[in-house]
Amino acid sequence: MSAKLLNGRQLAKQLQTELNQRFSELSDGTVALPTLAALQVGGDAAAKGYLRSIRRACQGVGAALRPVEMKEDSSQREVEEALEALNNDESVHGIMVLEPLPDHIDDSLLIDFLDPAKDVDGVHPQNAGRLASQRQPYFVPATPAGGILLLEEAGVDFKGKSAVVIGRSDIVGKPMALLLLHRHCTVTIAHSRTVDLPAVARSADILCVAVGRPEMVTGEWIKPGAVVVDFGTTYTEEGLKGDCEGASVEAVAGMLTPVPGGTGPITNVMLMQNLFDAHRRLVISK
Ligand code: NAP
Repeated sequence: MSAKLLNGRQLAKQLQTELNQRFSELSDGTVALPTLAALQVGGDAAAKGYLRSIRRACQGVGAALRPVEMKEDSSQREVEEALEALNNDESVHGIMVLEPLPDHIDDSLLIDFLDPAKDVDGVHPQNAGRLASQRQPYFVPATPAGGILLLEEAGVDFKGKSAVVIGRSDIVGKPMALLLLHRHCTVTIAHSRTVDLPAVARSADILCVAVGRPEMVTGEWIKPGAVVVDFGTTYTEEGLKGDCEGASVEAVAGMLTPVPGGTGPITNVMLMQNLFDAHRRLVISK
């Protein structure tokens, strides 16, 4: 068997065309353009790389990006004050805090300061809690929202399926598990302390991997015909790698999101969708 590859680039292009249309309807000068503020503390290379990709996403749909760069040694209070200023700035509609932050900054304390209505990453406890209790959050984190959309577009049937999510971060693993649960999967969340991970993975009709360890999952971990969503993105000397060993997983799975070209391209489009929604609520429907 050779898995059907789920083409994220094609879906992202389609979504971007739709978003372009919606953003261009706003650019007649009568309302402020949707504006995303990206707060970075220090000069971490991964955060800078992410900022570049967000800039491209904003340019792609005609949104404005406002990078806010703070010094590496900024105190927790100074960063909180910067966030509060963005919360109160009516010309800013979405705010994201770029990770990783310097070690002396407590990111969970910081996220509490975000205005939930501008939290386009969906990480504020109010948005995360509303997702958990299935009460319409303002925003769902873009990466898992994009992963689910790819599966829905491919016609995946979720009801009653056994789903395993490897990884329990607030931005990918946990919300992905909740989105699968809300679609009536029986969900297991696995992590670094899970015993016999290959056996747990093999029990999955739908396996989602968000770990950040290149090619950790091999074909032997896959139930024949399973749907596999690879969120992993690690830059190596051999290029971008996912968490799945592509060739061996493809030989056993029924469907697979490839890396590159699977979940990655959709994430930033979903982020722009969240920005558009924030702008609509804060400006258009005000
Ligand atoms: P993260 O916060 O570092 O979380 C990684 C998770 O993997 C943790 O829950 C950790 O378990 C688990 N883990 C680590 N080593 C493991 C092992 N050997 N066996 C089983 N589980 C293990 O990472 P993240 O932010 O969720 O990102 C995960 C991956 O997705 C990264 O490659 C990241 O670059 C990628 N990502 C992709 C997109 C996209 O658009 N496709 C967007 C965001 C992130 P513990 O909790 O026990 O430590």
